[in-house]
Amino acid sequence: MNMEFYRKLPIPQDIKREFPLSESAERQLKRRINEMKDIFSGESDKFILIIGPCSADREDAVMDYIYRLKEVEEKVKDKILIVPRIYTNKPRTTGEGYKGMLHQPNPNENPDMLKGIIAIRKLHMRAVEETGFGCADEMLYPENYRYLSDLLAYVAVGARSVEDQQHRMTASGFDIPVGMKNPTGGDNTIMMNAIKAAQSSHVFLYRGWEVKTNGNPFAHAILRGYVDNLGKSHPNYHYEDLCELAERYKASSYENPAAIIDTNHANSAKRYLEQIRISKEILHSRNHSSEIEKLVKGLMIESYIEDGSQKICDNPVYGQSVTDPCLGWEKTERLIYDIAEKL
Ligand code: PEP
Ligand code: MN
Repeated sequence: MNMEFYRKLPIPQDIKREFPLSESAERQLKRRINEMKDIFSGESDKFILIIGPCSADREDAVMDYIYRLKEVEEKVKDKILIVPRIYTNKPRTTGEGYKGMLHQPNPNENPDMLKGIIAIRKLHMRAVEETGFGCADEMLYPENYRYLSDLLAYVAVGARSVEDQQHRMTASGFDIPVGMKNPTGGDNTIMMNAIKAAQSSHVFLYRGWEVKTNGNPFAHAILRGYVDNLGKSHPNYHYEDLCELAERYKASSYENPAAIIDTNHANSAKRYLEQIRISKEILHSRNHSSEIEKLVKGLMIESYIEDGSQKICDNPVYGQSVTDPCLGWEKTERLIYDIAEKL
């Protein structure tokens, strides 16, 4: 085999023992998770904002950003539940480029998976311990999920992973909400099948164990737009798209029918400033139809401290995305207040 096994890494249990979450933080996280479940089940009508940089590239800027979010949440918390995006594993379309903090705790240095595992655990732990937020990450690698499984409040299965059986079965074993994205090609049947699979129970092979899951009733849709055969982006956040999703849910038996709308990626064609207009359009659609209001539980917004994005370099701009372009802080803060006003 053309693969060199050159370093044995600690298993999740070891890492968790070495870097344990405090009991008080665990209790606080549980509260946030329950608050979110209440939103997905319809018991609470708060609106979820899963918001933060495309990738968590450095601890200092991400923590700085999350502290800012905390201050804003204080002012809108009767209407909005903020779930910071701390995305530590990045899917790459061609396999090239920065694969996230897990691979490169320092984007300017070579990959180091041991440092990476520790760096992502520390960052997620700091976020929970210091701010009391329940945060989101993408499950890019089901096998690695357990390094963070006691720290997360929300998980997304990305557009490139959503058709994969191991992702779907692993998601069926979470007791936190999991968002299934529509695939990059835009076939919503694949996304609905992924939700069905994640809501069902399974027996399978996972990390050398035979495991059994009960199914995750909080698996739901994330609409992120799609790209056609010619490479052109198309949105799927418009009123008609949302009605179509509501119809699909009605036609079959799902628990807790719900959607989060991703305002960037193919929905904005990565014109990140459009996220402001797109967010407002979605709120308009919710206000227009009680069915859409019930279906759309929140937004996923790519936002950081500085507008736009930058290439990885020796002198990076602090708080500017090194992957997809993000809304900067000033615009983000204004947008959150605008959203709260329109709810
Ligand atoms: C992301 O959320 O940054 C991302 C990569 O999303 P998607 O899987 O929709 O491309
Ligand atoms: Mn992104």
